[in-house]
Amino acid sequence: MSATISSAPSEIKITETQCFIGGNWVPAVSGKTFATINPATEQEIAQVAEGDAADVDAAAKAAREAFENGPWRTMDARDRGRLMYLLADRMEAEIDALAALETLDNGKPLKDSRNVDLPLAIDCLRYYAGYADKIHGSTIPIRGNHFCYTRREPIGVAGQIIPWNFPILMTAWKWGPALAAGCTIVMKPAEQTPLTCLRMAQLAKEVGIPDGVINVVPGFGPTAGAAVVKHPQIDKIAFTGEHRTAQIITRDSADTLKRLTFELGGKSPNVIFADADLDAAAMGAYVGLFLNQGQCCCAGSRVFVESSKHDEFIEKLQALTARRKVGDPFAADTEQGPQVDQAQFDKILSYIDKGKKEGADCISGGNRVGDKGYFIEPTIFDNVRDDMSIATDEIFGPVLSVLTFDDKDDIIQRANNTFFGLAAAVWTRDISVAHEFAARVRAGTIWVNCYDVFDAAAPFGGFKMSGYGRELGEEGLKAYTENKTVTIAL
Ligand code: NAD
Repeated sequence: MSATISSAPSEIKITETQCFIGGNWVPAVSGKTFATINPATEQEIAQVAEGDAADVDAAAKAAREAFENGPWRTMDARDRGRLMYLLADRMEAEIDALAALETLDNGKPLKDSRNVDLPLAIDCLRYYAGYADKIHGSTIPIRGNHFCYTRREPIGVAGQIIPWNFPILMTAWKWGPALAAGCTIVMKPAEQTPLTCLRMAQLAKEVGIPDGVINVVPGFGPTAGAAVVKHPQIDKIAFTGEHRTAQIITRDSADTLKRLTFELGGKSPNVIFADADLDAAAMGAYVGLFLNQGQCCCAGSRVFVESSKHDEFIEKLQALTARRKVGDPFAADTEQGPQVDQAQFDKILSYIDKGKKEGADCISGGNRVGDKGYFIEPTIFDNVRDDMSIATDEIFGPVLSVLTFDDKDDIIQRANNTFFGLAAAVWTRDISVAHEFAARVRAGTIWVNCYDVFDAAAPFGGFKMSGYGRELGEEGLKAYTENKTVTIAL
């Protein structure tokens, strides 16, 4: 297999590369910049401002000022929603350009950026725009001659730190509920993929979201990210990324007791019973792992198939994988682009090596594709054991592990045998088994006879080391509010 890389369309314009603070585009105070790299060619796309504590401080002050004294929090909530709808409309009008920019910076196939990431991001903003004027408290009958009610108020300035795997979608997941609630924002996009988030900030300005409501400081985690976490003017951190980073954030935010929501990693079990529709299950296993180059927090990276169907399942899975087109993310028929950067590429290849050394059978792929760009073959390991590192560690790449089982109670226990708890899936025609699995598997999302079904209305998040709190849906909105109780003597 080899990848032929055409350069990205030359008409992609990179217009936003600085910090966006208080409605202005400004260089980093230090004057420093860093390169964002095209993972398909390993070439520099652009130099981006390298924000650090000084820039975060300016952004936090702008966000605080906009929160306390600007119109955003106090404006008619329906008007806040209207501005959010306008932002979604602008994204839709620019959908092709935004998708191309996302593919250039992240490497995901253009057809995925255009047909999956962008539509989901736009839908998320519209979903929360509709919520802006529907956030309210309740009246509570308390003892005595009192009138008691609650108000749901915005939490304040939200610090938002996102990863590189779904840059524009993560931006929408973070901005949607924060904006609807009336919060203001300091966002730190991932250093690998800052470009679409910065472009979104410009679109937000152009549709009339007031200055200071959205601030974006590109830069690195230990400098810019840590400054967001520690800043006393920031009230909350919404973080998506690795659980080890979340542990650092928990410690770093202790002094300011910030509200925290974390969306972290996973090692999600995808369990196929013998009575399942095996074609659908094989497709579910294939998409559930290989989507987005395997760089999904909820990737179904432990596929358990009932022993009696093992051979038939493997045949179907291998047939799908053999046809997978890896290569130029801008080519219309590409299904898998490069991994996001050298570090991820090296980590994935080292896990493939470990899998081979630990005695699993590498039955598909297992190698780099070509000699330029971070491309890796879709890889399947068979005869994997629960204790092998490819079955315990989050690889975050196109590496699927197949394990077998014979007993329902045993497989539920093995599905739960991980410190993660983000997602799980079960394939069966037996509704009782499906319900039992859904009730007993400790994960924030359970898919039955499907995988990777997302909707802005359905809460998403993890049990155990996969995170705190939920994003999306009404729960995602509540994470950006404080509940205030008002009691009046009558
Ligand atoms: P990461 O934790 O290294 O980085 C994520 C973000 O945190 C980046 O913006 C980074 O700059 C920042 N950061 C790093 N160190 C920091 C620090 N000390 N203080 C503050 N910010 C810091 O994760 P990654 O490798 O970029 O992303 C991949 C991980 O994200 C995977 O583990 C994946 O499972 C997880 N993820 C989870 C979800 C979800 O919704 N649960 C979604 C996408 C990715």
